[in-house]
Amino acid sequence: MDERLKYIAENYEQMKIGPDDPFHFRCKECGKCCIHREDILLSPYDLFRAARELGMTTVEFYKQYCEGYIGQDSRLTIIRLMPQGSVRRCPLLKNHHCMIHKVKPAVCAMFPVGRGVAIPKDKTSAENAELQIQYILQPPACGDRSETHTVREWLASFGMDVEDPIFLQWQRFILFAHNKIVKLEKQLEPTEMNHCWNLLAYCAYMNYETGKEFSPQFEENLATARKLLEAYERAAQGVQPDAG
Ligand code: SF4
Ligand code: SF4
Repeated sequence: MDERLKYIAENYEQMKIGPDDPFHFRCKECGKCCIHREDILLSPYDLFRAARELGMTTVEFYKQYCEGYIGQDSRLTIIRLMPQGSVRRCPLLKNHHCMIHKVKPAVCAMFPVGRGVAIPKDKTSAENAELQIQYILQPPACGDRSETHTVREWLASFGMDVEDPIFLQWQRFILFAHNKIVKLEKQLEPTEMNHCWNLLAYCAYMNYETGKEFSPQFEENLATARKLLEAYERAAQGVQPDAG
């Protein structure tokens, strides 16, 4: 696991911050957070907005700037911006500027704030549970402390809501998929499992027309991905599909 993500995982509880708690930070726009990075992970919404901003399809954007791997914990495809060269520069950093500044990924825009969800101990019931977004404050080794913000106001400054419904929808899907995939991995041959992962990744991250609104496509894609997983589950159990 990337060192920064490892630090967050180990110190998560102490880093929590409420939506209206103040924190002190001013970004000096030095661009150093765009190098030595292995962890710029993209949600489907991040990928969609970045592709649209650059006039590309989601598939073209993925092929040019990203790579995917199976998350150690989620067991789902994770997509990240592919770091380049010995300084591990973000591929979207050109002439010291972010090529997608107006729509940069949530992890970039929110820094030093980060977010996750409280997951019930029993993950099998988690997909139906009322999920709550939790915010954390990462110790910034950059900028200065000359400005005071709250998480709510910080997020609003780049058009995000502390109750971000798209983020919650995505987290709920990740939990649903995780529970199914963990079982399927024990039942399917590796080639079948890879096929399943590829279909899911296409469905969740790529199957969008960037000229259309994101949310309805996202809802439809997640519904299709759920059906796909259920079909794999039935097939793995040897259950014939419903004729109706
Ligand atoms: S977040 Fe920090 S490292 Fe990134 S541009 Fe701002 S001051 Fe520099
Ligand atoms: S997406 Fe933009 S802000 Fe984020 S690391 Fe890349 S260049 Fe920097």
